[in-house]
Amino acid sequence: QYVAVNGNLIDRKNAYIDIEDRGYQFGDGVYEVIRVYNGKMFTGNEHLERLWKSASSIGITIPHSREELKDLLEQLIQKNKLSLGTVYLQYTRGIAPRKHPFPSDDVKPTLVAYTKEVGRPEEKLHSGIKAIQTEDIRWLRCDIKSLNLLGNLLANQKAAEAGCDEAILNRDGRVTEGSHSNISIVKGGKIYTHPANNYILNGISRRVMLEICAREGIQVIEEPFTVKELQDADEIFLTGTTVEVMPVIELDGKSAGGGKPGPVTRKLQNWFKAEIENQCGR
Ligand code: PLP
Repeated sequence: QYVAVNGNLIDRKNAYIDIEDRGYQFGDGVYEVIRVYNGKMFTGNEHLERLWKSASSIGITIPHSREELKDLLEQLIQKNKLSLGTVYLQYTRGIAPRKHPFPSDDVKPTLVAYTKEVGRPEEKLHSGIKAIQTEDIRWLRCDIKSLNLLGNLLANQKAAEAGCDEAILNRDGRVTEGSHSNISIVKGGKIYTHPANNYILNGISRRVMLEICAREGIQVIEEPFTVKELQDADEIFLTGTTVEVMPVIELDGKSAGGGKPGPVTRKLQNWFKAEIENQCGR
């Protein structure tokens, strides 16, 4: 398996991380996970655009052009013969003696990228998943796709310990997002989802979902909803790069979102799949 380290594709066995890389010591960096279907990146440009935005929000200047990075990722996919899976990539602020202030400009960000074979979660997409809800204890810049994921990890671990796939987070009773997905509910035929501000990651799959809804004439209300409204929703679904449009059928051990994937969720799943096929082929 090849991996990309800075500009080069090398054998994974020869890749190493310096002990003073700021990503390793501080989680000082940004990342993306891009879905690959049929050997092609789905919404690749949108992911790269968000990566540049995340990096500039924390003062990291990416030392490649978007075209260079895209070429490199495409080469990586080809060399690893990846058909269905993901590309993970991250830039850290680089290698420097451990001090909180940013190092000088001659320290270049470190790029690491690799691919992974990941199938579509067919069974879960069909049956739906279980979730818990818990408090959102993360920082106030959740719009940045930062390597600092402890708040997300602690919540997701709680879900795992409860035998669930996702933890749905709330701030002061208002639902923000999942630990690694965005969340929407359906009530009376309308979709409700948290606005894309600093409290959530502006998910690319969420954006695809919004575009589909605009096209298909489904009303979406981008306003926070409460935990009570989540519990009382007609349907609940997650969106995310690996989960696509995922029904939630149980919350905190109780039947929720109608107890089975609902009609709006099913339609969205089909339209989402059509969008994938449109971009990446069948
Ligand atoms: N929210 C969080 C916290 C995430 O980690 C993710 C990543 O998958 C998402 C939302 C969904 O974003 P995207 O659709 O861009 O994968």
